[in-house]
Amino acid sequence: MLKLSCNPPETFELLEHKHFEGLNKIIGTGQRRGLYAVAAPITKLHSAIRNHSGRKRAFFEWLWGINGGRLRAILIGKPPLLKMIVDSFNQKFPELVFSEQDADGNVNFNALGNTVLDIFNYKRYRQSDMCLNYLSALGIRQATPCPYCNFDEIYLTEVNGDDYHYDEDEREAEANNYQQALLDLDHFFPKSRYPFLAISLYNLVPSCHNCNSNFKHTKEFALETHVHPYMTDFEDIFTFSLKTPYVDGQTYDTLEILYSNKAAYPDFPDNSIKDFRLISRYNTKRETLLDMLKALHMGIFENFDQIFTDQQQGDIKKLILRNAKIPFEHQEITKFQIGKLKRDIYLEFFQRKSNLA
Ligand SMILES: [Zn+2]
Repeated sequence: MLKLSCNPPETFELLEHKHFEGLNKIIGTGQRRGLYAVAAPITKLHSAIRNHSGRKRAFFEWLWGINGGRLRAILIGKPPLLKMIVDSFNQKFPELVFSEQDADGNVNFNALGNTVLDIFNYKRYRQSDMCLNYLSALGIRQATPCPYCNFDEIYLTEVNGDDYHYDEDEREAEANNYQQALLDLDHFFPKSRYPFLAISLYNLVPSCHNCNSNFKHTKEFALETHVHPYMTDFEDIFTFSLKTPYVDGQTYDTLEILYSNKAAYPDFPDNSIKDFRLISRYNTKRETLLDMLKALHMGIFENFDQIFTDQQQGDIKKLILRNAKIPFEHQEITKFQIGKLKRDIYLEFFQRKSNLA
């Protein structure tokens, strides 16, 4: 929902370079939290080509492409390129499946799926410093709202080695301070169907557990149907509003949250809003919204112009809004829980007011 960005934006190019080099650099074993390494996708893919025949071999050769071009595109290609790879795979190898879902919704990978996952080893990547550095470059800190929902928070925390109880054999290797990512990495194109995109830089979306596991799970997402946090900004596509303007003495359960497409994207589907259950989740925060509206309604900003200069008014407004965790600037939406909802409603409130004036 919220667009993931780096500061400065060129950082993405650097991250792509680090990702590709880091995954394919071979270093010694024995490092618990070192680079991904040990088993580089390039090496493993070559042995998979050698060890298979027929259609499976053709598939592994396809993954490699010409001079390793497709492998590179898979690992660091941007979302539109990943989409082309997905489309091409579906067209060329429609018979290949990597997993099955059982009656309880658990995904079980078959032998082919496990071979692919061994090449694109997500578990190893998730435990690597590479992954932590990447999340840090994306600006994930303590209590950052999830990019999909802007509701639940995700965390990159500093864990103090002394606070944690280790098993004896863990003690030496682990008894330092280290970072821990308390979040899920969602695979925008699902890992169950496309395990070869399991460690693709732009297929990994840091998200909350609810969005990733409870709401999305193995649902198929596509660039045309869902907001991809590396591609599009939810802010450009949708606006939240209230069905009826706030009136004095209103109770929170009568606040009805609506959404609509902005003029620039009149036809973009609302699948992201529906699949992540945004309205029902936001409804649980209606009391907070009501408090915000009450404060605005009571006219906390009414007499500003009589007391303060324009410059002061702007500064004070910013402070008050930040204190109430309402984003003043567009970029601040990513910092506050339900930041977009609050900002849209706040802007709507003042729009209505100036229309009346
Ligand atoms: Zn979320």
